[in-house]
Amino acid sequence: MDKFKHFRLSLAIDAVRQAAFLCEHVRETLSATDTQSKADKSPVTVADYGAQALILEKLKAGDPDTPAVAEEDADSLRSPDTAALAQRIEQEVERIVPGFSQTAILDAIDRGNYTGGPEGAFWTLDPIDGTQGFLRQDQYAIALALIENGQPVLGVLGCPALPGPSGQTGCIVAACRGAGVRIYTLEGEDYTSVKVSATASPKDARLCESVESGHSRHDWAAAVSKHLGLSLPSLRMDSQCKYAAVARGEADIYLRLPTRPGYEEKIWDHAAGALIVEEAGGTVTDIDGKKLDFGAGRTLRHNQGIIASNGRWHEQIVSAVGAEAPDQA
Ligand code: AMP
Ligand code: MG
Repeated sequence: MDKFKHFRLSLAIDAVRQAAFLCEHVRETLSATDTQSKADKSPVTVADYGAQALILEKLKAGDPDTPAVAEEDADSLRSPDTAALAQRIEQEVERIVPGFSQTAILDAIDRGNYTGGPEGAFWTLDPIDGTQGFLRQDQYAIALALIENGQPVLGVLGCPALPGPSGQTGCIVAACRGAGVRIYTLEGEDYTSVKVSATASPKDARLCESVESGHSRHDWAAAVSKHLGLSLPSLRMDSQCKYAAVARGEADIYLRLPTRPGYEEKIWDHAAGALIVEEAGGTVTDIDGKKLDFGAGRTLRHNQGIIASNGRWHEQIVSAVGAEAPDQA
């Protein structure tokens, strides 16, 4: 790994670690007024905004010339109706970075408005991936990746509710293209390296999928399971923790099967996780077996759905997904 890449990886891990502390504090003290509904009806919390502000501020300080594509923007926080929410965000961020003013926080959040594209380098961030899991006190992830020329080259997932290297709760999973995957403790520098499973037949495979049936079709995945002869029950988990589960061999297949035509997956929902599975020795494609194109803008508009696996029989899964496709997909 070259020196600049190494520096950026440490910067990303530090930023994600800091955001994880904010998210865990908000999760432990969450009140009903800490959550808002976005225009698409999905929830957003004090922690989504706070984590985005912390991470984009750290990236600006350490890597000022690289733009970012991030999920949230501060538009809705600038109105008088949301003054209380903006103040709560300031309070949580200030616990970690004293003196970070509300104006500076909103400006930091808005620094994630880059359009992406096929050339050059940019960061992509989901400050809380799996907000529904976060609200259910279940799995969620802070997902940060560096894209170069349309492909992720660094990927960091902060997973505060996922067991870590020595069984404690919480870990950070980090990958660098060509250098493998490490799982760190949330607090420290201890880590272990991980690999995908060696499961030799799909019959013995464990499949994982979203908890939310609105994010991935459960009936389609059940038909694929039957088609492949899977005997283990599927593992339902929120967020990119599913990619971490495949990378460390706790699951063998991750399916994300489109719930409606025309939905474009967001690059921040997959960039870090996809690199982590590939660097652990697995394979990630869309449902047609095509490579994911992270250089098409803020979404994966050239791809449909996701199939991640340990790589041993990926083609068989792609065929089964195609064979079991429901009419309206
Ligand atoms: P998961 O934790 O697997 O349920 O995925 C959470 C992510 O699903 C969120 O970050 C959203 O960006 C994304 N999402 C929202 N609507 C859809 C949809 N219709 N299909 C697929 N993903 C979606
Ligand atoms: Mg997300």
